[in-house]
Amino acid sequence: MDEKILEYYLKAGEVNKKAQKKARDFIQEGVLLLDAAEEIEEFIKKNHAKLAFPVNLSINNFAAHFTPSSECKEKFQANDLIKVDIGTAVEGYIADAAFSISFNKKNDKLIQASENALEAGVKVFKVGAELKEIGSAIQKEINSLGFNPIQNLSGHGLGKGIIHGAPSIPNIENNDSRAIEDNEAYAIEPFACNGEGFVREGMQTEIFELNESKPIRNMHARKILEFIEKEFDSFPFAVRQIQKELKLNEFNLKFGLKELQQKEIIKAYPVLKEKEGILVSQTETSMVAFKGKMHRLV
Ligand code: MN
Ligand code: MN
Repeated sequence: MDEKILEYYLKAGEVNKKAQKKARDFIQEGVLLLDAAEEIEEFIKKNHAKLAFPVNLSINNFAAHFTPSSECKEKFQANDLIKVDIGTAVEGYIADAAFSISFNKKNDKLIQASENALEAGVKVFKVGAELKEIGSAIQKEINSLGFNPIQNLSGHGLGKGIIHGAPSIPNIENNDSRAIEDNEAYAIEPFACNGEGFVREGMQTEIFELNESKPIRNMHARKILEFIEKEFDSFPFAVRQIQKELKLNEFNLKFGLKELQQKEIIKAYPVLKEKEGILVSQTETSMVAFKGKMHRLV
């Protein structure tokens, strides 16, 4: 890493911060999820950053990887606990950050748990700190408010064009004694819930990512692949973003994506959810260690 790369990370963080503010203003009871996602995404582009992934708006027991489809008619409801996860990239360097909101005060304590946990994690997040120390700090904070961390979701390393790099930053005390390294970037993202703290993959998939480009015969699949390579490269994308640009009919779009998935050209990110009726909160920021000093991006 050099000064210039640090600057790109900081710039990505600045845009992310502004996008979070935009999201907080825009997301209200009765607003369409689809309008919110598109509004935030347009805002990021206007502010000279790229989307590192489509805006995720996971609600209630959905912990991650939900973004509305182009047909989604869902609106934010009075009791919803909404996780807004935003990825911004400048020259490929990513700021990955999330916050939780609800219009109902009864969810405040659960939101507070993930916010406090993030602060506790950030506090011990220093070059040389062991991963298990960070997990332990996060878990303690969430448990102290009477909730559980989601044990099978974690933070991660960040790199140029790499959103989910090694290592995993645990949200529980595990036995990982690897240390935070200098001149590396990371995302910390505690999830708190009032359930067991374990997520499973759901049926719905709106987000995909290029895995490995290969020749493909089907015309629609090829068209989609060309667009993905040009527009998103290694970054995750949403089905609606493909549809908006290529205007394929639903059958051709679904067939094309299925074809790409079967040939392992693209990889799916299905929604990740806790049990029905459980509520999950998430707070996330990105950290860059440069010359021994830690920089918080958002
Ligand atoms: Mn992340
Ligand atoms: Mn994120």
